[in-house]
Amino acid sequence: MKTELVKITVNDGDDIFSKATELLKNNEVVGMPTETVYGLAGNAYSSVAVSKIFEAKGRPTDNPLIVHISEFNEIYELVKYVPDTAKKLAEAFWPGPLTMILPKSEKVPYCTTGNLDTVAVRCPSHPIARKLIKLSGLPLAAPSANLSGKPSPTKAEHVFEDLNGRIPYIIDGGDCEEGVESTVITLATETPRLLRPGNVTLGQLKAVLGKVEVDDAVLNPLKNNETAASPGMKYKHYSPDAQITLVKGEYKAFCEYINTCNSEGVYAMIFNDDDASKLSVPYIFYGSEDYKTLSHSLFDSLRILDKKGAKHCFVRYPDDENDDNLAVLNRLLRAAGFNVIKV
Ligand code: AMP
Ligand code: MG
Repeated sequence: MKTELVKITVNDGDDIFSKATELLKNNEVVGMPTETVYGLAGNAYSSVAVSKIFEAKGRPTDNPLIVHISEFNEIYELVKYVPDTAKKLAEAFWPGPLTMILPKSEKVPYCTTGNLDTVAVRCPSHPIARKLIKLSGLPLAAPSANLSGKPSPTKAEHVFEDLNGRIPYIIDGGDCEEGVESTVITLATETPRLLRPGNVTLGQLKAVLGKVEVDDAVLNPLKNNETAASPGMKYKHYSPDAQITLVKGEYKAFCEYINTCNSEGVYAMIFNDDDASKLSVPYIFYGSEDYKTLSHSLFDSLRILDKKGAKHCFVRYPDDENDDNLAVLNRLLRAAGFNVIKV
């Protein structure tokens, strides 16, 4: 299959979307930009489109998809009921990087929800994603547009690297602003529960809802035989080819440790404000010690490691006492297979 990569800007007219919307109406899949990461979109009501999404990504079919809508009212078709908590969250964070889980309506097929009775719904803020949903007239199931297990795509070229020849069309809408996937919260439990951290932070959720539980899988590996509340959490994720080790400690100790590991293919990933001259190994910066900048460049940095041919990368561990860093920590821990060294 030939993959077309087309640059589209917010100011382009509706006609430029006609190829993408035709494909979506015909149950084909399209790579699209969102403010979190690039998504691989398809008609959420069609088992044909949904199976093409799973196949193109090589995604296990029990890992459910997030359904994207262009405005709040579209949620009513997808879910059994809309609790006050959902209305409050939407008021505060939609359109934006927050996904809510609720019992699904009959209309949503089980292939979209990985056989669960619940569905994940998000209203993205990216104008191109919203236009695509509006113009196609469909709720769009869209997981991240990477090969399953690889770092999520934050640039159209990342989608092309992973899915060239596997999907017909990619919209290049520039770099994703957030850079990590949406926050996922379930409202299908008695107390709302955070399943995946993102850039709508735990503190922001608590400010709206009061009590929010944090699923164990956010910062810990699943124990044997444990069922994942969010099935995606049980798979190895976000991994470049290079082996990742997280290193926790003061910068001086970090450098001393890594300098003793210096050999061919060894890299470090450090904060923008670290003094790189103290390192004897090649390095990549991945943002200041602030969750917005870290998350913005995290996945791109992991992909750059592979392009440089890195074999092993030691990554500076972000401050885990600050809940705002949960999203970056969660992704890094999975990229590292929970391999953390204290220095
Ligand atoms: P991705 O679209 O690749 O960002 O992954 C979507 C994430 O949302 C995965 O971690 C899924 O496990 C999670 N998710 C989607 N639908 C549900 C659901 N109904 N219940 C729990 N988690 C879900
Ligand atoms: Mg993903």
